Order: sequence, then C-alpha cells, then structure tokens
Amino acid sequence: MTQAIDIQKATAAFKALKCKECGAEYELKASHVCEFCFGPLEVSYDYSSLRQTVTRESIQAGPNSMWRYRKFLPVASENPIDVGTGMTPLVRSQRLARRLGLNQLYIKNDAVNMPTLSFKDRVVSVALTRARELGFTTVSCASTGNLANSTAAIAAHAGLDCCVFIPADLEAGKVLGSLIYSPTLMAVKGNYDQVNRLCSEVANTHGWGFVNINLRPYYSEGSKTLGFEVAEQLGWQLPDHIVAPLASGSLFTKIYKGFNEFVEVGLVEGKPVKFSGAQAEGCSPIAQAFKEDRDFIQPVKPNTIAKSIAIGNPADGIYAVEIAKKTGGSIESVTDAEIIEGIKLLAETEGIFTETAGGTTIAVLKKLVEAGKIDPDETTVVYITGNGLKTQEAVHGYIGEPLTIEAKLDSFEGALERSRTLERLEWQQVLV
Ligand SMILES: *Cc1c(COP(=O)(O)O)cnc(C)c1O
Ligand SMILES: [Zn+2]
Repeated sequence: MTQAIDIQKATAAFKALKCKECGAEYELKASHVCEFCFGPLEVSYDYSSLRQTVTRESIQAGPNSMWRYRKFLPVASENPIDVGTGMTPLVRSQRLARRLGLNQLYIKNDAVNMPTLSFKDRVVSVALTRARELGFTTVSCASTGNLANSTAAIAAHAGLDCCVFIPADLEAGKVLGSLIYSPTLMAVKGNYDQVNRLCSEVANTHGWGFVNINLRPYYSEGSKTLGFEVAEQLGWQLPDHIVAPLASGSLFTKIYKGFNEFVEVGLVEGKPVKFSGAQAEGCSPIAQAFKEDRDFIQPVKPNTIAKSIAIGNPADGIYAVEIAKKTGGSIESVTDAEIIEGIKLLAETEGIFTETAGGTTIAVLKKLVEAGKIDPDETTVVYITGNGLKTQEAVHGYIGEPLTIEAKLDSFEGALERSRTLERLEWQQVLV
C-alpha cells in the first residue's frame, strides 16, 4: 500500500477527485458523487508539475498509442493496459469537404480504434488500468453497446473477470462483439437509463468496478486523448471548430478539457474553439435544452436507430450545453432518415463506414454548414466514434444489392449493361 502511494507521488500528476459543483476534494478512490452536494467528481492535476515535465518531444517519444499522454491520465502505473488504443487517423477530407463546401475539414476516425472499433476503447483502457490499481478483480459497465464490447475485450486482455449490462434490444453486431470475449453478458429488458439504474444498485452491493459508475471520474478522462491527438496531429495546434456526438455528454466535455490542458501546460497556443454537438432527434435531451436555453435537462424516452448514443437522462448533458454556449457552438439533432444519409455520405465520399452515431454526426455537420454555422475556411474536425459493421441493421434496405451472375463472360456483360442503363435512368430522374 505505501509502495503504491510512493509510485503515485513519484510519477503521476493526478492529485484528487474534485466535485465539479462545490469543489470539495476526495481521495483517489472508486467514487463518483460528492457527499455534500451530489455533484459529479472529476480528477484534478498538478499542472505546474506537468508544465515542467512534459514536452512535445517527450510525448512523441512515447508509444504510438493514447498512452503517449499518460501523464495527463489518472493512472499511477508505468505499465498501463496498452492494447494499441488511440492514435487513430486524422484524415484531411477532400471529397466530403467539397460536397459540403468546406475548405479545411478533417475527420478523426475512431471507427478504426483498437481493439473494438470505437472510441470507448480509450475510456476503458484508463478505467481498467485504474481498476487494477485500486484492487478490483471484477469489472463491469452499463452500456449502449460499444462500452460493453470494449470492457469485455480489454478485461479479457488484462485477465479481469467481467460482467457487462446492455439493453436487450441492441444490434446483433454489438451483442456478438461482447460475447466473443466470454464475459457474463446481462441483456436487460429495458432501455439504457433503466440498465444504468440497475447497475448503480449492483455497484453498491457487489463491490465491482463499474467503469462508467464508480470508476467514472477515471474512465471519462480517457476521452481527453481525442482532444490531445487532434491537437498533435494538426501540428500542435487547435482547430477552429469541432463537431462530436453526444450521449451522456462526457466525450464532448472531455475534448474541451483536453484542449484546455494542452494550452495550460504550454503544448499549444490558446485560441477560441467552437464546440458543436450532435444528437438523434429520437433522443435529443441535450439539443432540446440548448435550443430552449435551459439550465437543466428534461429526461426523454429514447426512440431512434442511433442506439449507441441513446441516453435519455445524460449525466454530463448540462456541462455540454454550457460548453457549446460559451464557445459559440451549437447542439443540433437529426432524424433517423438523415442519420442513414449521413452514414452513406461518409462512406461514398471518404471510404469510411461508420455506425449510426457517426451518421448522426455527419448529418449534423451538414446541417450546421447549411445553416451558415460553420465558416468554409474554419479548420473543422468531425469526430467519427464508431464502426458501421456493428450496426448493419441500420442500412439494410438503403444500399444496393450485388448483381448475381453466372460464371460466364456474357452473363457479366449483360449484367454490366443493365446496371449502367439503370444508373443512367436514375441520373435522368435526378435531373428532371
Ligand atoms: C458512447 C458513445 C458516444 C458518446 O459517449 P458520451 O461520452 O456518453 O457522450 C459517441 N459515439 C459512440 C459510437 C459511442 O459508443
Ligand atoms: Zn459537491
């Protein structure tokens, strides 16, 4: 025990858990709510020590993963659980940019994040590293799908026991994407908010490490790496505008914290960055609070194909609204039909197949451009957070079909001719 504390003192800059509302400070244990005011707890750091010990060079000399930013993350271990998570491509968009009329569009592509193809691998890598440090042997989560995949996979890698909870009506790819790692998988007959409530009770009675409940302050810090990486990949600069999806709102607020920390310790120059957020109309409590200029979230019952971001009572929603407002950004929602169009648009213009959350984000990006809320010359980064192969149901019936042919040249030629005729007809219809 004393040794663990010494290691922490020697190498880590995280100091305490601090209430976001009243500022009360707590030991670095597994807890997430303030005992005085019930506000959420957040990890605080010693920035003056970071300023002295971290440089662009020291980061670049680190691993080619999110752990190059280890000093900004709440882990004491020199050997965090590193399964190659992070350092996903930041793609300079050509064809999508042209289609939308933007000159400086970048796509942060976490559809190819390791190991389970969503940004959740970042938060889980931090949460499980911290869970191990705190002595947990069983880890768990309340998930909309991707989180269960990440927790099950990374727990398997780390040799931790794992029991994950999902709503029973998830996409087949999300269910299979957990089961393959052999966790205990609880499919709860109810929506995410009901799953979450059940998990809070289990966390109290079983002493497990729930990555997004009692370990939430550590877990959520992992999302800062989506801010750090973009700043580094832009050549140690901040963008002018970011667009990201919102479920609980955590990711959005942590990209903001990440940018600010890099400014605070002198790694990038400070400048205004607009923060815009994306929700599905069928679950848009944060967008509604933004639109109505409210300082509270009115919970909703989710009904959308964008299940991965369908949280009706978002824990960090109000902080997301605050950030969008004070940075001059916006929070918008789009219909399920627009989400499908968004998935197809990104695939056809950039060769990136994203899931429903990414379709939501692209559709909101388009909406913001059309409303004049993104200047064509702003350096804009759109965050793609998950992979389309996990939500295939969403696009069934909205994409083409293969041309089945005989293994003969004339069969091929005939089919090719028919498909070209069809294409011409479709074009004529478009032109009419
Ligand atoms: C969980 C999730 C989000 C948003 O997460 P929050 O931090 O809860 O806002 C976005 N995209 C995908 C694909 C997700 O799985
Ligand atoms: Zn408090």
